[in-house]
Formats: sequence, structure tokens, C-alpha cells
Amino acid sequence: MDSNKTKNFQICPVCGVFITEDGKVNFAAGSPGTRARLYARVCRYAQDPGCINQESQLIGELTREDGFESGENLPIPVFPTTEATK
Ligand SMILES: [Zn+2]
Repeated sequence: MDSNKTKNFQICPVCGVFITEDGKVNFAAGSPGTRARLYARVCRYAQDPGCINQESQLIGELTREDGFESGENLPIPVFPTTEATK
């Protein structure tokens, strides 16, 4: 594939996470996720204009999986359908 690994990623100065060019988010801990997950777990709480992950067009749709269920620690089943959980 691409042998020369260009460092085309952004770092959110507020949240301290890496977002690669293709939209993968590398958290300090855990497996890589998406912008949506990043937003659901970190950036939505930042409320800081310096945060680079506040554009809903880039973030896309948040799913239950992306966020933490506060007060609950249940395993979340993965639904193949796109549910609107708002
Ligand atoms: Zn952020």
C-alpha cells in the first residue's frame, strides 16, 4: 500500500487525541474508534472552541455504542439496523 507513512493526522489540542486522515481516532487507551465515538466520549464534554472534533458533518451520527451509558454497565448488543436513539 503506501510505504511512505505520511503523518497526516490531526491532534485535538483540547482532548489530546489523534485523528488520522481517514477519520480513525486513536485514543490514549483502548482500541481506535471513530470521530463519532470520540465526540460522544470526549469532545461533547469539552465544549471548547479549540476542539477540532465539533463538526457534526465530520462526526456523523452518534450511536448508543459510541457513548457511555451513564449509570449502566450493560453489554450493549450490536444491532444491524440503524436505530435512531436520541
Ligand atoms: Zn476534541
